[in-house]
Amino acid sequence: MRFLGHSTVRFELAGKTVLTDPVLTGRVGGLTRVAEPLAPGTWAGADLVLISHLHGDHLHVPSLRLIGQDVPIVVPRGAGAWLRRRGFTRVRELDVGESLVEEGLTVTAVRAEHSGHRWGPRFTHGPQAPATGHLVAAGGTTVYVAGDTDLHDGMSELSEVDVALLPVWGWGPNLGPGHLDPERAAEAVRLVRPRVTVPVHWGTLAVPGIARTARMRRLLVEPPLRFADAAADDTEVLVTQPGDAVPLPAPPALPAKPAQPAPLASPAPPAPLATPNSPTGNPQLARTEGSTRAHPRESSLPCGRVAGSARSSRGIGAEVGR
Ligand SMILES: [Zn+2]
Repeated sequence: MRFLGHSTVRFELAGKTVLTDPVLTGRVGGLTRVAEPLAPGTWAGADLVLISHLHGDHLHVPSLRLIGQDVPIVVPRGAGAWLRRRGFTRVRELDVGESLVEEGLTVTAVRAEHSGHRWGPRFTHGPQAPATGHLVAAGGTTVYVAGDTDLHDGMSELSEVDVALLPVWGWGPNLGPGHLDPERAAEAVRLVRPRVTVPVHWGTLAVPGIARTARMRRLLVEPPLRFADAAADDTEVLVTQPGDAVPLPAPPALPAKPAQPAPLASPAPPAPLATPNSPTGNPQLARTEGSTRAHPRESSLPCGRVAGSARSSRGIGAEVGR
């Protein structure tokens, strides 16, 4: 698993590579990427793309074109035709509560408390489809991809989540409606009860004109640390800098089986607990080798680079949903 920045995570499950809400370019609408740029290899080979909602920092057509027009894309129900008109050939729609199987992965759309309109909550023209999160499951492992959401009761109905990708901030100095700040994201953890949580939706995009202000520089770093402090008792928080591999832990050891009486005939050899070619012992969630675990207190600025443009921030809300 690798956190590519903002809501973009690349992970492998059952041998398939999933990309969530891909934002891969140096510019996204009126926002600039302040995290390190991504190399093409970080998105190459995707088997499935998940789109949580239509806002420009989640459904980013130039990034989707980089991945390829023929890669399967799951979008909220009602958004398929809009994307197909832009040349994407394998678009599948999911409404909240619906599931599909793609590439051997079971994907279920779950509720998200967030504006579903392409241009954010303040406009009424243009495409509209309900914002969703996703559960991605295979081989007994479930990843919860929250998308953008505020707290809601349905979170407590998500069961058996192994890894949650939870938003803890955004791209601006303030959060609009339908978002989680670090403390509310910790509340979400108490509802969802994931074994491991990766804070996302922070440290990646900013308004060019204010990216260098003291407040914004703080907000590009602090949200996941505040989240880690607030949620530490309830989940294992893996604070990962944009672009870095997520240091997933090995799965919990299986309980020892009770002693069996000696068999009369030659028994079959015991089944291995792990796939032989899985370096982490986890056959489902392959960990990228060479990753290091980011301790919250050791984190530094995620980005040395801030693009120098002073492009006006006007119209950003219309280009990138908050
Ligand atoms: Zn967003």
